[in-house]
Amino acid sequence: MTDKYISKDGLNGLIASVKASGGRFVAPVLDTRQVVYKEVSSAEEIVDDYILPRNSYKEIAFPQTEILAKYELTRDGVTIDPVEIVARDTVVFGARPCEAASLASLNSVFTWDFIDETFTKRQEKVVVLSLGCVDADDECFCTTVNLSPASTEGSDVALYETENGYIVTPLTDKGTAFVSAHSDSFTDVAKGEEKKELVNPEKVEGVDLTKLGERLAKSPNYDNPEWAELTRKCCGCGACTYSCPTCHCFDIIDEGTAFEGERRKNWDACQFNHFTLHASGHNPRDTQYKRYRNRFMCKFHIYPTKFNSTGCVGCGRCIRVCPVRLDITDLMTAMSS
Ligand code: SF4
Ligand code: SF4
Repeated sequence: MTDKYISKDGLNGLIASVKASGGRFVAPVLDTRQVVYKEVSSAEEIVDDYILPRNSYKEIAFPQTEILAKYELTRDGVTIDPVEIVARDTVVFGARPCEAASLASLNSVFTWDFIDETFTKRQEKVVVLSLGCVDADDECFCTTVNLSPASTEGSDVALYETENGYIVTPLTDKGTAFVSAHSDSFTDVAKGEEKKELVNPEKVEGVDLTKLGERLAKSPNYDNPEWAELTRKCCGCGACTYSCPTCHCFDIIDEGTAFEGERRKNWDACQFNHFTLHASGHNPRDTQYKRYRNRFMCKFHIYPTKFNSTGCVGCGRCIRVCPVRLDITDLMTAMSS
């Protein structure tokens, strides 16, 4: 399919068309002074001067908490009723290319040795409309992890901003079907319609992903005292993991009484001290540097080895939210030597 065009005003028609077909339209909006992904009803709610929404795209297919089953103890025994997975057709408008690329990481882990249906059933219903970045901040570093504002991994449709609208490039079958299904909302690209220039964040000097991976693969480096020095200020709050689009750890717990309750799947974080606490009281990651080291190894050694991708897309969210300004690129630089 050739490129199409949609004006910013024309988004109202697209939103109405998506809603009329039973879907929901999610986009970056200003909510209590923060830009977040949220369902919208009109184009006027959508902001366009944002770097990245505060929350990660991941929560659309991997919600912070969800009920998997309900249990009840009766005179006749225990009943466990699974809760049906609600998967709605969802359009995500304005995901940044780094965020769209994080889908590859999530897909790898949720379909690796077990198909996690709570994720995959929702993800199948999502159409990602990524929007090339015309601005970056000091925390963006996608170019350091071999991505860029022009990357298309994970996107179904790439959008490129123009003066008054967007040039629309379908990339996948899902994206082409989406544009066809809502064809009344799109027009051909008028002559002279120009894409705004995309802005590449500067590469972080000194980071070499190959050397970094090689170093992490060598076991003597695992117990290098450098880890403790570099991560000493980490307070283990978990904000980096919750905001990261590729972090995916969760816990399954029963909440309720001995007589009734819910089995829930909740986000968890490897930065918490009880994350690997054994029933015996032993904790293999008993200090914070070991927990930070685990997160770093996951992204730059385990992911590349197991899934042939990096677990970090350079979105910079973990740097923006960290209360002690621990910058992951400082560790990437140090570990590249
Ligand atoms: S580790 Fe940080 S920069 Fe990398 S994807 Fe996660 S939040 Fe973004
Ligand atoms: S956000 Fe910062 S302080 Fe909190 S766990 Fe992550 S690195 Fe540590």
